[in-house]
Amino acid sequence: MQTLLPYSPPTITRHLSGQNSAANRNRHAHGLNNNVCERIDGVPVADLAARFGSPLFVFSERTLREKIRRAREAFESRYPNTRFAWSYKTNYLNAICRVFHSEGSIAEVVSEFEYEKARRNGIAGRDIIFNGPHKSRAGLELAAGEGAMIQVDNWDELLLLDTIAKEQGRSIDIAIRCWLDAGIQPVWSKFGFGVETGEAWRAIRRIAESRGRLRLQGLHTHIGTYILEPNAYKTAAEKLVTLMERCRESFGWSLRYLNLGGGFPSLSTLHYSYQSAEQIVPPIEKYAEAITGVLNSLPRDRRPRLYLESGRALVDEAGYLITSVVAVKQTTASGPITLAGKAAKAQAYVHETNGTAYIVDAGINLLYSGNWYRFNVKPAKVQRESLPQPVKLYGCLCMNIDVIREQVSLPAMTTGDHLVMHPVGAYNITQSMQFITYRPAVVMIGLDGRVDVIREREDLDYVQRLERIPDHLLTANRPE
Ligand SMILES: *Cc1c(COP(=O)(O)O)cnc(C)c1O
Repeated sequence: MQTLLPYSPPTITRHLSGQNSAANRNRHAHGLNNNVCERIDGVPVADLAARFGSPLFVFSERTLREKIRRAREAFESRYPNTRFAWSYKTNYLNAICRVFHSEGSIAEVVSEFEYEKARRNGIAGRDIIFNGPHKSRAGLELAAGEGAMIQVDNWDELLLLDTIAKEQGRSIDIAIRCWLDAGIQPVWSKFGFGVETGEAWRAIRRIAESRGRLRLQGLHTHIGTYILEPNAYKTAAEKLVTLMERCRESFGWSLRYLNLGGGFPSLSTLHYSYQSAEQIVPPIEKYAEAITGVLNSLPRDRRPRLYLESGRALVDEAGYLITSVVAVKQTTASGPITLAGKAAKAQAYVHETNGTAYIVDAGINLLYSGNWYRFNVKPAKVQRESLPQPVKLYGCLCMNIDVIREQVSLPAMTTGDHLVMHPVGAYNITQSMQFITYRPAVVMIGLDGRVDVIREREDLDYVQRLERIPDHLLTANRPE
C-alpha cells in the first residue's frame, strides 16, 4: 500500500534585497534613508499624532490636486472633450469629494446613498453618473427626473426604466454598461451586458423598440481595477467604438458619450509582486495615449465625449495612516503564514523575521485594502543606531488574522514610536469597519499647510446612536 505524505503547501522564500548591503549601510549612515516618513507635506508626523491622536488618517490636499490635474492634462491635451467623474465609493469623505469637484470633476455614484451624498455636495443630477447593479424604482425615478446619467446594468433595470417612461409619458436618457474581454482576467461579467455574447446589442435593439421612450446616450465599461496594462483600454475603447458605430449605421443614432470607467493603478503593489510599484505601474499618460488614440482616429464630427471614473489612481497616494507601536513581542522566528482569504493563496512563502513583532494601535478593520496591496510602512523618525531588520507587524484587534504585514523591514522600535502606512487613501475609509474600537479621526493638510479635521474620531454616542433598548431591559439589571 502506498503511504501518503502529509500535504505541505508550496513555499517560496522571499529574497530580502539589499537589506544589509554595504550601499544600504552607507546610505543609512549618512541619513539618506528614504525609508523614513518624518513629515507629510511638511507637517511633522509626531505633531499630527500629538494634536489629533493615534491612529490618524491624513490626506494631502496637494497630492489630490496634483493627481487630478495631471490626469486631466494627460487626457485633455490629447482629447479635449474629456470629463472626469469622481468615483464616490473609492473615498466619499465630503472634503475629498469637494476637492475633486473644485477641480472640475463631476460625480460617479453606485448607490442611492452615494447619489444623495453627491447631491448634498452641490452636484446637479445632470452631473451625476449613476452606476451600480441595484437601483430601486424610487432611485431611478429621482435620477431620471433630475436628468442624471443612468448607466443601466441589467435587463430588469432596463425594462423598469421603460415602464417608468411609459407611465410618466416621457423619455429617459440612458447609457448601458457593457462587459467585454479586454485581455484582463477575470472578465468582470457581473456588471452590464456582454458585448461579445451579443447581449449588449440585444439590449440596444430593445431600446430602439421603445420608440424614443428610452434614448441611448452613451456606452459604459469598467474593465476592472488596478489594471497594469494600458493596452487593455485600447481594446475596450475599440470595442465600444465598434458598438457605437453600429448604433449609427442601424438606427442613425449619434451617441453623446463613451464612458471608459476607472481602474488605473495607483503607485501600489500587490502582495505577490516582487517588483516595486515604481517598476510596474505605467504613468497615466500611457493610458491617455491608449484611449484617446482610438477616439482620435474617428472622423472629427463623430468623436463622442469621453468620461472617466478614475478612483484609486487619484486618491490612494494622498492618504496616509499614522499608527503607534503599542507593544514589542518575540514570536516564532519562522513558520508557515496564516493570512486570510485571497492573500493566503497568493502569498504562501516562509517568512524569515528575526522573531520580533510589533503591535500597532490600528487593525486590519481600517486597512481592508491590505488584503491585496502591500503598502509601505515607514518609521516617523530616523533610527541611526539600528539597521532595518525583517519583523512582523500585528494590528490591535483580538483576532489572529489581524496581521498588517507578515514581514516588513524596520529598524528597532519601541512603544510610542510612530509608523506611517502609505498609500492608503483608496477604499480603506469607505470599507473600514467599526470593530472593538472607535474609528480614528481623518485630517487633511491644506495647500497652505493648515490641518483640518475632515472626520472626527468616533465616540460612544456616535457608535450607539442607532441602538434601541427594549423597555423590559431598561431597568437596571445587575448581574447577581
Ligand atoms: C469602483 C468603480 C470605479 C473606480 O475604480 P478604480 O479602480 O478605483 O479607478 C469606477 N467605475 C465604476 C463603475 C466602479 O464601480
